Formats: sequence, structure tokens, C-alpha cells
Amino acid sequence: MYEPEEEAKEGEEKGSRGMDCCICSPMASKYRLPRNAICASCHEGAKAIIGFLVDKDDEHGEDGGCGSGGLRDAWEQVKEMSAREEETNARADFLQQGFGSAWKEGLHTDILVKPGTGPPIPAHRAILAARSEVFRHMLSGDERCKAPAAAGDSIALPELSHADLSLLLAFLYTGALEHQEEEEEEERRLHAVLVAADKYDVPPLRRACEARLAAGVGPRNALRTMEVAELSSSAALMARAMGAVVEHAEEVVFSDEYAEFASRNAGLCVEITRALLAARVPTTAWRAAEKESSTHRA
Ligand SMILES: [Zn+2]
Repeated sequence: MYEPEEEAKEGEEKGSRGMDCCICSPMASKYRLPRNAICASCHEGAKAIIGFLVDKDDEHGEDGGCGSGGLRDAWEQVKEMSAREEETNARADFLQQGFGSAWKEGLHTDILVKPGTGPPIPAHRAILAARSEVFRHMLSGDERCKAPAAAGDSIALPELSHADLSLLLAFLYTGALEHQEEEEEEERRLHAVLVAADKYDVPPLRRACEARLAAGVGPRNALRTMEVAELSSSAALMARAMGAVVEHAEEVVFSDEYAEFASRNAGLCVEITRALLAARVPTTAWRAAEKESSTHRA
């Protein structure tokens, strides 16, 4: 495709508009002059693809690679990757459907998980133990575990509501984080589940919650998000929320919510003040100040 801002870096076409690229030109090859000029975009893309695939080969410790075979080898590798992806998807579907229906249909469940509110949810000890070290300790009645041990045929997660717990269990069985119908409700639920993912040590669930929440961070919910990020020790989400606070500083700082937030989170308010100043002081002055304070500390 023709890109006006992309021009060949060298060669006779330099500076001309509408380069006749032998890769991406829409002109059929039989009408084209027999030239092998390649546009900057195709050139960069080809190099990037080859570089990416060579790196991947290094990671897997395979020999060969497409360095010598050029794009033709790269294409072969892309086809292999695509086949592997299909296979992986099929395997994931197989696992997800089997475990998902074992839970949804309550097949041979052997434990009741009790939320703080609402009815208990039947589940499988083996799945809980396999997904979380903390559950494993609770279920084996380990005294060293901070969380309360499972009493008989039940285990209690009193900090979660029935719906929160259901979302968490669904993830443990299927690896998928279900969407909620209503946006506000989804946010509340994800906050609860993120804190639980931290407490019960389920890193994939934590990452899934963080990614979903980070996508919806704005001035409206930045402060709430910050509190949850702190509770769940989520640095990525904290950075995202801080970014939103700085970007919409007036809206956030002059809200009633901020006054309430400040009374609960003195430490976070210090962080916010610093971030706001850092964003306003011209960068060079700020860097100089930073540098000076770090040399003083050193
Ligand atoms: Zn091209």
C-alpha cells in the first residue's frame, strides 16, 4: 500500500512519491518493470519479522533459524506457529469445557465454599488445591497457614460475596474471567477478586483482573482503583491509577471523594502530591532536584 510519509531510504526512487515496491505494490507483476525496489515499510517489516523469528529460535534453543533463508523460511515458521496456536486453542478448549462442566454441573463435588453472604458453592478440593498454595494449606489443615483451615467439608472465604466467589471459582476451573453485565458491578467485583487473587496467591487471576481494571481506569474511579491496587500490592494498576489522577488532577483533587480518600490514605496522598508536582515542574528542573536529593541520600 502506498504510504505518503514512507519513502525509500536509498536508491533511485528516493524522494519520489508513490514508490513502485516489488512487495506491496498493487500493480500486477506482469505490468511492472522488472525492478526489485522495496519500499521502506516492507524493508523494515521484513527485517523485523526475520529478527523476531530468529529471537524465537534462540529462545527455544533450536538451530537453523531463518537468518539465512530470508522471508521464505520466515513464512514457513509463521505457518508452523499458526498450526501450534490452533493446537493450543483446541487443548485449552478441551480443558476448559471439561473442568467448567464438572463445576457448573456439580459433578462429584466434595467441598462447600462459603462466601460471606449468600449460599455456599460446591467445588472440588483437588482443583482448589491445584490452583492455589494457600487453598492447599487450608485444605490440609496446615497450622502455619494464616488463613483459617477448612473445617470438615467446607472452607470459608468470608470477604467475598456469593457472586464474587462464583467469579473466582469460575476462573480457577476455566482460566477465563467472566464478564459482568453492568460496568459498575463488574468493577466492584473485579476489585474484590483482585484482592482475593493476591490473598490466595493465584497469579494468573491477578493478571487477568489487573488487565481488565487497567483498561477502565479514568478520573471517575482512579481513587478507588488506587486503594485496591495498594490492598493487592499491584504496582502496574497503581501506576495506571496514578497516571489518571495526574492527567485529571483538578477533577480528582477537588472532588468530595478525595477528601474521604485522604482521611483513609495519608501515604497515598503524599504520593499523589509528589506525582502532581513532578508533572508540573519543568522536567529538567525536576531531574536536577531528583539528582540532588539522590546524591544527598547516597
Ligand atoms: Zn512495499
